[in-house]
Amino acid sequence: MIPISISTALLIYLGLVLTGLFLTFFLGHLKSKKRGSLPPLYHFIQCEYCHHPFLVKPEKKIHRCPRCQCLITTDSTSSHFL
Ligand SMILES: [Zn+2]
Repeated sequence: MIPISISTALLIYLGLVLTGLFLTFFLGHLKSKKRGSLPPLYHFIQCEYCHHPFLVKPEKKIHRCPRCQCLITTDSTSSHFL
């Protein structure tokens, strides 16, 4: 039998516990990255004129504000995505 002190035994025990927790977190993180995420169904934009926020489909480039009925474009050069 190998003689060790109580502090060494406690240090080995804590090291093993922390290593187990780290491996559990790391493997869970890798598993969640593999699943990926779905693209959003809607974008959240704000009207340039009345500042009313509303949801739009990302495929469309021109939207009509539900409050003031103004047309709003969502091209890549504009910066009114929230
Ligand atoms: Zn509006």
